[in-house]
Amino acid sequence: MMKNIRAVFFDMDGVLFDSMPAHAKSWETVAKQFGFDLPYEEVFMNEGRTGFSTINMLMQRTHGRDATQQEIDDIYEAKCQEFNKYPEAPQMPGAMELLIKLQRKGLALYVVTGSGQPSLLERLRLNFPGIFRPERIISSKDVKHGKPHPEPYLMALDRAGVEANEAVVVENAPLGVRSARAAGIFTVAVNTGPLPNIALEAEGANIVLATLHELCEQWESIVG
Ligand code: CA
Repeated sequence: MMKNIRAVFFDMDGVLFDSMPAHAKSWETVAKQFGFDLPYEEVFMNEGRTGFSTINMLMQRTHGRDATQQEIDDIYEAKCQEFNKYPEAPQMPGAMELLIKLQRKGLALYVVTGSGQPSLLERLRLNFPGIFRPERIISSKDVKHGKPHPEPYLMALDRAGVEANEAVVVENAPLGVRSARAAGIFTVAVNTGPLPNIALEAEGANIVLATLHELCEQWESIVG
């Protein structure tokens, strides 16, 4: 049962920025360089995991062991370098319009991301000026357990000082939806990638939409 909504928690890649195709292509390329097979679409199934977790998964299923810290560092560094070859990802269509609308309603807006890239704060500040205060950005550096663990969204509830039934999450990835639902939060999935809607519904998404425009238009009927 939702009460009056006071805070909205946004995932970043694939929700605020159209960055997932570049992430998926760079993971696919770098995995191959290191002797692993990570098909493009599988990156979307694993989206939201930390780099560490993705690399360990590849090592486990290919060589039956955990990755060493050195291997994790080398592969993650290569992936970041590959990703940086792509042009900077544009804002997701409809993102700014939605954020402004929700800000005008007096809602506290947060970013909850598994990303830990150093340029994160700057990117959010430049793209969405005046929307996300620095203390309202929760990244992989703030949590012990990344998505799909509920910790990132539980931390967002804590920082916002709201109960789970006073918040809404906007996610695009199955594991992100799992994390948000495990934290007990009403979750809108915006399916901006190649996966079927069922992949998001199966993790407990309360509603699945195709675009942020739809969410903006339907906000009142969805959230009340
Ligand atoms: Ca995402």
